[in-house]
Amino acid sequence: SDLAADQSLRAPLPVLGRDVTVPLVTGGEVTYAALDYAASAPALQRVWDDVAAYAPYYGSVHRGAGYLSQLSTDLFENARNTVAEFLDCRGDDQVVFTRSTTDSLNLLAAALPTDCQVFVFETEHHASLLPWRDAHVTYLNAPRTPAEAVATVERALAGRDPHGPALVCVTGASNVTGELWPVRELAAAAHAHGARIVLDAAQLAPHHPVSVRELGVDWVAFSGHKLYAPFGSGVLAGRADWLTEADPYLAGGGASRKVSRRTDGGVDVEWHVSEARHEAGSPNVIGAYSIASACKALTEAGFDALVAREQYLIDTVRAGLAEVPQVRVLSLFGDDAPRVGVLSFVVDGWNSSHFAAALSAEYGIGVRDGLFCAHPLVRTLLGSDPEAQGECGAPEAAPGEKSLNAIRVSFGAGTPDEHIERFLGAVK
Ligand code: PMP
Repeated sequence: SDLAADQSLRAPLPVLGRDVTVPLVTGGEVTYAALDYAASAPALQRVWDDVAAYAPYYGSVHRGAGYLSQLSTDLFENARNTVAEFLDCRGDDQVVFTRSTTDSLNLLAAALPTDCQVFVFETEHHASLLPWRDAHVTYLNAPRTPAEAVATVERALAGRDPHGPALVCVTGASNVTGELWPVRELAAAAHAHGARIVLDAAQLAPHHPVSVRELGVDWVAFSGHKLYAPFGSGVLAGRADWLTEADPYLAGGGASRKVSRRTDGGVDVEWHVSEARHEAGSPNVIGAYSIASACKALTEAGFDALVAREQYLIDTVRAGLAEVPQVRVLSLFGDDAPRVGVLSFVVDGWNSSHFAAALSAEYGIGVRDGLFCAHPLVRTLLGSDPEAQGECGAPEAAPGEKSLNAIRVSFGAGTPDEHIERFLGAVK
């Protein structure tokens, strides 16, 4: 209640779309309540304003001699520095602009040294679960406590050939339960066994400060569209060595420093060793610029205030849902485990897809239903039979049967109290 009374925490960062009205099947209309931040957070008004201010100066980067081209190049390279600061990177880390977290992790997967062993929990989002399938990958069973997660990684790494390269891939905050993973401890365990670690920060970075240095991770990946920037851009930041030893992710202009014909008729290429190596083609300047703008806005708002505000919303949602006996909130590490503003639940007697559709049609609330691109995790949490489910867990559970999919509510820096109140009222 102290937090709720603090006016600064009642004034979250302005986001786009807060006053969009939507029709209700019950008649009339309401302002749309976006409670699906975990899929894509609404862009900050500040980011949109920054992009609009840059628009007249739009020009190609790294290519032209003209003034606007040089200005765009500066903005693009400054964006890289801003992201490096935001992530508290080490001096020799690289910040590669990608399309998304999925793209970033696939880039790292393509840059793994030969014979690299990869260790990944089955509970990961498909973006961090699937890119390693061409490597020697070990899928680790879902842990039930953060300590068990660390012990599982230690056990798995202890059994490997200590001389070869190895990588642990872990999420910072689950996109299903919102639960925080013990990243610092996992990084220490990985390093103690000569392995490296990549952090999937798609859900963590929008909610908590991420310090590459303090967490001790080797790489971190996140997406602009979950960090209050528009779609289409992401980041892979971290150690340069594996990235510069690998072939470019895409072959093309920008990645190549020197190209020449050989006497036998072929072509020789010298690739860049900087970030440009993996950024072939004309880069997404607006994407990089808007990520940097979002990083600055979050830093200026201050994560202490943002985390406190979000914790108040999390507590409100948890308390409200606890009043509805038919609701079961999903969690791997226990009900009281620390989490970000992402919660999944099932409602006894309800098909989750119908429930989510009703929230939209009758209350103007946008949540998500399904398996959230983390099928093994959701099945573990629901204790449901994989064979019974379609691609997104669509089939209806008969009354009294286990749910086959779940409902996810997620929120963040732009969420007003009214959206949470409307959501809880609707669930009740
Ligand atoms: N990891 C996590 C934890 C996610 O929540 C998501 C997006 N749902 C991704 C990776 C993939 O992000 P993107 O779709 O932006 O590539």
